[in-house]
Amino acid sequence: MTDTMIDNPAHHDRTVLVTGSSRGIGKAIALRLAREGYTVVVHCRSRVEDADAVVADIVAMGGVARRLAFDVTDRETAKAVLEADIQENGAYWGVVLNAGINRDGTLAALSDDDWDSVIRTDLDGFFNVMKPCAMPMARKRRGRVVVMSSISGVLGTRGQTNYSAAKAGLIGAAKALAMEFASRGITVNAVAPGLIETDMITEENRERIVPMIPMRRTGRPEEVAGLVAFLLSDDAAYITRTVIPVTGGL
Ligand code: NDP
Repeated sequence: MTDTMIDNPAHHDRTVLVTGSSRGIGKAIALRLAREGYTVVVHCRSRVEDADAVVADIVAMGGVARRLAFDVTDRETAKAVLEADIQENGAYWGVVLNAGINRDGTLAALSDDDWDSVIRTDLDGFFNVMKPCAMPMARKRRGRVVVMSSISGVLGTRGQTNYSAAKAGLIGAAKALAMEFASRGITVNAVAPGLIETDMITEENRERIVPMIPMRRTGRPEEVAGLVAFLLSDDAAYITRTVIPVTGGL
């Protein structure tokens, strides 16, 4: 398959919203899903040019995409933008809740804003985005939700009480939503990446953590995107309420 080939045109009637897909893991997911023939809703907070470049890449490969921009911490705007998009284009087949930030530091060093901004973005963002999407999806009685957690939410990581709390909270939210959606034919799963090469990781992280990773390397965004694409596929129809690590064995 080349970049100019779309794998499955039959997927065009399946629209997937990928939050935080202007760069990093979300961008890799958007490109992968587009290549598989899904219609992709690319989303960002403020880097609109980056998001538009992802849409342009998708269109250049023969795919279908559009772009939304809003801050996931802004509940009213998220609701207004998503409801308008759904009203105009129909319910999403899939939602990938990927947008997230970290603000690392030991508890003693964390500022109020470090705590609040991570919880508001990573955890409240789940509710703010998922709530407007949920009923339209449930009415269609089909679909997929993938929540981007982190291995930090499973293990608890030094210097990440805020991030580990938010990412553990997302696992709880995903499992609970999986129970609510199971009878509607909608699966909900969480993905828990380890250390993935994006703007989020620092040289200090790389030096400290890579020696602890059995595979002795960081992951690539495309390696997370492959798992997300699988969870969105028909092959994953009976997989729900799980947390799947992508960590090189960490
Ligand atoms: P990046 O920093 O590379 O990208 C973050 C993305 O999220 C951008 O698209 C950004 O938009 C968007 N975003 C951030 N804050 C907001 C907000 N308030 N409202 C809307 N969009 C927002 O991150 P990664 O690709 O590394 O991370 C993606 C997800 O994967 C996150 O949830 C992260 O916690 C998780 N993860 C990452 C790991 C890693 O090692 N990289 C490991 C485990 C989990 P914009 O470009 O406009 O700023």
